[in-house]
Amino acid sequence: MSEEEKINWLIDPKRFFPSNLSRGALCGNKNFINAVDTYLKILAESQFWPLKRLEEIQVKRLRALTACIADCSLFWSNYFREHGFSPDKAVLKDLIRLPILRRNNILTLGASIYVNPRDEDYPLFTRRGSGTTGISLKLIYSEREFLIGWIPFLLRHPVFEKQSLVELLSRKPFVVLGKPGMRYAFEKDFFYRTFEAIQSTDLELLEVRKNIYKSIYETKPAILIGFGSLIAKLAQLALQDNVTLPLMAVRVTSEPISSLERALIHKAFQAPIINWLSGNGIGVLGFECPTNEGNFHLNAENVVLETIISDGNTVRGNDKELIATSLAFTLTPIIRFAQEDLGQFISKICPCGRTLPIFEFTGRRGYDVVLPSGNRIRMILLHSALMGLRSTHRKVKQIQVIQKTLDSINILIVRRAAFSDGDELAIRLAVSKLFGGEKMLIDIEYVEDIIPGRSHKPSFFVPLSEFQERKL
Ligand SMILES: [Zn+2]
Repeated sequence: MSEEEKINWLIDPKRFFPSNLSRGALCGNKNFINAVDTYLKILAESQFWPLKRLEEIQVKRLRALTACIADCSLFWSNYFREHGFSPDKAVLKDLIRLPILRRNNILTLGASIYVNPRDEDYPLFTRRGSGTTGISLKLIYSEREFLIGWIPFLLRHPVFEKQSLVELLSRKPFVVLGKPGMRYAFEKDFFYRTFEAIQSTDLELLEVRKNIYKSIYETKPAILIGFGSLIAKLAQLALQDNVTLPLMAVRVTSEPISSLERALIHKAFQAPIINWLSGNGIGVLGFECPTNEGNFHLNAENVVLETIISDGNTVRGNDKELIATSLAFTLTPIIRFAQEDLGQFISKICPCGRTLPIFEFTGRRGYDVVLPSGNRIRMILLHSALMGLRSTHRKVKQIQVIQKTLDSINILIVRRAAFSDGDELAIRLAVSKLFGGEKMLIDIEYVEDIIPGRSHKPSFFVPLSEFQERKL
């Protein structure tokens, strides 16, 4: 394939996919699989292309997308005009003319943000974005556009570069713990077994684990997917059970994992850990570099990412807010959406050689412990401090931290074994060390179970704002 043809694929992938695509008819669908395979091979090359060439592709996609949106929607054509944004000659930096959209102001815009579908956009697919703030946003997609914009990027990882996609996508390789966002694209065709409402404490039951192991064997080599805390817990128990599982990869979602947990997962499952960051309504923003832990490569062929210094006191130090524009979706335009995530671009060249921009994801906006002074401690640091302790690691079935007031935190622990005074002291020391001398009451409470958060998510941390909102 010539360079020009590859660029054409990246600018307009829809041209090269079958015209009929719908969920439930993808598994074993040769035309679809061949298109995904070709697209992924091109993406495997373009991740090493000069940044300038990637930016040229972004500009072409941005122009085509915004022109199409303006054509089909009076709201958006007025919106672009009012802000001096011209789709036909836009360049990337023109995006800053447009306002940043946050969930609450999108809701005030109402139905006008949705673009009228054209004939080729049917069938449509509608879902609600989950959102940690509790305000859910309706997302309308052309099903075909949704699948082309999501699936290839869910498979963009070195693990899959070595696989035969025809083999992988002609069967159901996924065993799933919980309800990950990728189910919208993959569940009907590729999920072998889903343990949807499973909690950390359920994993203590040998029967439950046996069912999971059995599913993995039945669909080997399997890809295990689940919330970080569940996967880490399963890894710990699988080591005790002394089982060897035929896994191709392990994908952790939604929650950060400590380096101790990561090592445990590697040891138990002997499979690469895939970690990617999803955006609001956008699909996959980026994937964690396999050789540069904690750093993500942006899917620049599909997304434009900006970082901004946010006003207010929610942003600390070098952290910025991630603002994303999708180049793939027409019916619900995602143009300068605040992702409610914090992070920053890394200016260094990645040692892996990929030229896709690298960024660090440092946590959800507002997911911090707030100290009496107004200073904030990242949830991820609290998580590492607690889960890095030997005692919590061995003796905890589940743990949750709730901030109920500005000067206290409650640590709820479902025990596996008794805690000594020394264990409690270690927890208090590890946590108060983070607070830099500020006075915070640390209350440790032993409980029978922990109530799951929204969408059955096992939330490790309930921030003050959410506690007040949910009146727990
Ligand atoms: Zn890299």
